[in-house]
Amino acid sequence: MQIDVGTVVKMKKKHPCGCDTFRISRIGMDFKLICTGCGREVMIPRKSAEKSIKKIIDNNGEKNV
Ligand SMILES: [Zn+2]
Repeated sequence: MQIDVGTVVKMKKKHPCGCDTFRISRIGMDFKLICTGCGREVMIPRKSAEKSIKKIIDNNGEKNV
C-alpha cells in the first residue's frame, strides 16, 4: 500500500460528519488525517490506520479541500 502525505484515502470508519474520505497530513507513529468533509484533524495510530484504510482515492495530493 502506497501512502504518502497528501494521499486521500477512504476509511472503513466514517467520521462523525458522515464523510469517509480523509487526506493524510502527517505520517509517523500516528497518522494525521484531515477529514475531507469538515476539515477536522484526527490522529490514528499507524497500525489501526493501515487496517481501516479501505481504498486509496487519490495519490496526487493536490485536492482542493
Ligand atoms: Zn468530518
